[in-house]
Amino acid sequence: MIQVGVNGYGTIGKRVADAVAEQPDMELVGVAKTRPNHEAETAVRRGYPLYAAIPERADQFADAGIDVAGEVDELVAASDVVVDATPSGVGEQNLELYDDYDTPAIVQGGEGADVADVSFNARANYANALGADSVRVVSCNTTGLSRLLAPLQEAYGVEKARVTLVRRGGDPGQTDRGPINDILPDPVTIPSHHGPDVNTILPDLDIDTLGMKVPATLMHTHSVNVTLDAAPDADEVRDRLADENRLFLIPDDSGIDGSGKLKEFAMDAGRPRGDIWENCIWEESITVEGSDLYLFQAIHQESDVVPENVDAIRAITGDEDADESRATTDDRLGVGLDSVFADAP
Ligand code: NAD
Repeated sequence: MIQVGVNGYGTIGKRVADAVAEQPDMELVGVAKTRPNHEAETAVRRGYPLYAAIPERADQFADAGIDVAGEVDELVAASDVVVDATPSGVGEQNLELYDDYDTPAIVQGGEGADVADVSFNARANYANALGADSVRVVSCNTTGLSRLLAPLQEAYGVEKARVTLVRRGGDPGQTDRGPINDILPDPVTIPSHHGPDVNTILPDLDIDTLGMKVPATLMHTHSVNVTLDAAPDADEVRDRLADENRLFLIPDDSGIDGSGKLKEFAMDAGRPRGDIWENCIWEESITVEGSDLYLFQAIHQESDVVPENVDAIRAITGDEDADESRATTDDRLGVGLDSVFADAP
């Protein structure tokens, strides 16, 4: 059993902790938190050993009536791998601690690409992370783009990808990002950081990205144009994308016209926290003009990186079988949204 510690128990950390606890080959050693807030209560309710991320604040947990199992360095020492899900920039600082204990670590997409040995996406470059000391699971948007572009590149070759990312202004719990009512080119300069970030995963891919931010919290939406080397018809592309378990094709007849209904669909399907681990591609939008492919996809920023973190844990511990890892992760989490409309004539 791979012993896994999670340092930073917020939006990403709590989801990764739950996903790790579901895996047949992993054991969650515990989670580290900076303060005894509602998320600490969630950890207690789930029975996860809680460690104090900042030793000087350990007393605050006792004052709040929450028992801690120890301090963060004890969590790191007891773990075969640490998943760091602290805010951007903190992960980089924490790498020294993981290094002190010779514990390999996974950091998140908010860290710069140069802080870790390798940037990671399970569909595109699993093997690069085998046995690494540190791995960066790329951001939600880069994950969504890599999952889409890797199979397109394999099947048809990509001459150039152009993507406009319409990004949510903040996560639902990020009250400090609002109230907001605006539409921003963000950044106003081109390209946005996403294209170069995709190149940390798919180095040879020619891609330009433009970013916008809108007053929404549910999901990001990508408007995608890929010039392929080949000129397949739209049905063929649709079938190929449908074969990818982490891509969900939103059926034409489902009536899902935006991220609001997508989230509703996920909640009705019983998804924990309404999470959508898959890219959601509007089937009707898949259009090919010559060798130009167009489509729209929505990305659930809070959860699409979760299965990738689980696979990164296996890769960093040297488990060589990428297909098997992805299959186990997907099976245990229930990745692979289905719709009865998918087979409609
Ligand atoms: P978050 O703010 O929701 O959670 C971070 C948690 O870490 C909080 O509970 C915070 O109290 C805790 N923390 C702060 N300092 C700490 C420290 N020194 N030690 C331990 N814990 C500490 O942030 P998040 O959204 O989960 O983001 C975490 C990382 O994941 C970032 O790199 C971010 O860019 C990346 N990411 C976020 C999203 C998203 O949409 N939320 C998507 C993909 C990747």
